[in-house]
Amino acid sequence: MARGSIVVVGGGIAGLSAAWELSGGAAGPGDDTPRIELVDASERLGGALATTEFAGRTLDLGADGFLARRPEAVTLVRELGVADRLEAIDASGAWIWLRGALRELPSGLALGVPTSAAQVASVRGLSWRARLAARRDEWLPVRMTVGDDATIGDIVRRKLGREISYQFVEPMLGGIQAGRIDDLSAQSVFPPLLDAARQGGSLMKVLRPKGPVQPGPTAPSTDAGPMFYSLTSGVGSLPTELARRLSERGVVLRAGVAVTALRRTPSGSYPWEIDTATTTTPADSVVLATPAPMAGRLLGSLDERLERLTRIPSAGAAMVTFSLARDEVTLPPRGTGVLVPLGTNWSGEGSMMVTAVTLLDRKWPHLRRDEDVVLRAHVGRIDDERWLAMDDHDLTVRVAAELRVLLSRFGTPNATLVQRWPHGLPQYYLGHQRVIADARAAASTLRVALCGSAYDGVGIPAGVGSGRRAAREALAMVRSDSGPDS
Ligand SMILES: Cc1cc2nc3c(=O)[nH]c(=O)nc-3n(C[C@H](O)[C@H](O)[C@H](O)COP(=O)(O)OP(=O)(O)OC[C@H]3O[C@@H](n4cnc5c(N)ncnc54)[C@H](O)[C@@H]3O)c2cc1C
Repeated sequence: MARGSIVVVGGGIAGLSAAWELSGGAAGPGDDTPRIELVDASERLGGALATTEFAGRTLDLGADGFLARRPEAVTLVRELGVADRLEAIDASGAWIWLRGALRELPSGLALGVPTSAAQVASVRGLSWRARLAARRDEWLPVRMTVGDDATIGDIVRRKLGREISYQFVEPMLGGIQAGRIDDLSAQSVFPPLLDAARQGGSLMKVLRPKGPVQPGPTAPSTDAGPMFYSLTSGVGSLPTELARRLSERGVVLRAGVAVTALRRTPSGSYPWEIDTATTTTPADSVVLATPAPMAGRLLGSLDERLERLTRIPSAGAAMVTFSLARDEVTLPPRGTGVLVPLGTNWSGEGSMMVTAVTLLDRKWPHLRRDEDVVLRAHVGRIDDERWLAMDDHDLTVRVAAELRVLLSRFGTPNATLVQRWPHGLPQYYLGHQRVIADARAAASTLRVALCGSAYDGVGIPAGVGSGRRAAREALAMVRSDSGPDS
């Protein structure tokens, strides 16, 4: 018999994973499985994961792959029984635009940070100053004292100089979160960098990989197999599959319905009532899987530590995807993409908007066709929102003009697609971990578990892990006889 009622607010990958865990995970529902209702404001479940049909393919509109060497997403795919759809990334390597030309990135970087002076020397387009800074780090490293946290920019700039920081590290590491390395917390985004700085000595030598280096505060890893996976049906098919299986388990899924308030009802038989415009659902516990500012708005009046969640900034980004006949475009000879440092000059006025180009059909075999290529340009950073002021047509024209410079030949596309993600990427600034720990402590006294990309790291594996962890917390709250204050 079902016991208790849990409402999940937010149906991105974190909320859906929470519902999967609440409904029994791999084992499936049991006698003590609670009634579960998942509510999402959007008409489509999945949040930042979605697919569309484009140029005869099923294409991801948001995330297009996930780290294979963190187990959470791969485990979920296996539990859903769709492991036959896992597809390993098919190419490696990338290029960077430096001094007016594409330069190949060396292998063995740690999330964009060089790990030897030889790597830096191999990149034509970096100056003698950058080479000298790298050599100095190996032989006479700059001393620095690091406390509990420091920005990534602070560490890399002091150890390896400005050029390596902004021309090399920021395009990759800053690009993952659409943030600036001078703001992003090393403790939250790249803990091995903070550890390396703390150890003193050469940053590059300490970072030299024993295995691959991964983003995120908690990153369990295994060393075998590919670096990234996608799904042959698109990563956006993962939430669709999850939703289908959750429905089969009797989970109530409500899309297109925003939660407007979480109300405590101390004298009622349930501690919470969850309001939408038209309904009220009683609950013993709530899993809050919305972006953090929305969690802060829904709960902030109850505790100042939760109100602080409203102040976590998040960056937006847009992606313009093109299909072109093969003879209409010149691509680098190998690799999956191109990085463009921020502030790269554009025709003497302002800077380029494109921050990266992904060669989608090199990356993923299921997107490959003989007749055309599919590539995607990324624009937008926390402090570059020019794309917001442009309509789709103007944005596409501008991006195509920049690609004409970056790729030397970029002709007339067969098809184009603009996808905008206005607030998709939370920024982990200094002090982030404290804000999150405080908010979680406050939430748990209210029988609320928090999850999503603002809490346990950006990315699909982190989101799956975050949702499942929150579900276990919520179940423990419901199942404990001596539950917290209600
Ligand atoms: C452009 C882009 C590219 C990315 N690429 C990758 C990649 O290649 N690989 C990777 O691993 N990660 C990538 N990421 C990151 C990854 O997609 C996210 O970390 C992850 O999808 C976030 O999931 P989430 O469930 O935490 O949040 P979201 O997906 O944002 O879901 C939150 C949900 O809450 C709902 N909601 C909000 N308010 C309410 C309310 N009041 N009531 C009810 N529901 C509400 C929203 O509708 C939404 O569905 C990318 C992100 C972006 C934006």
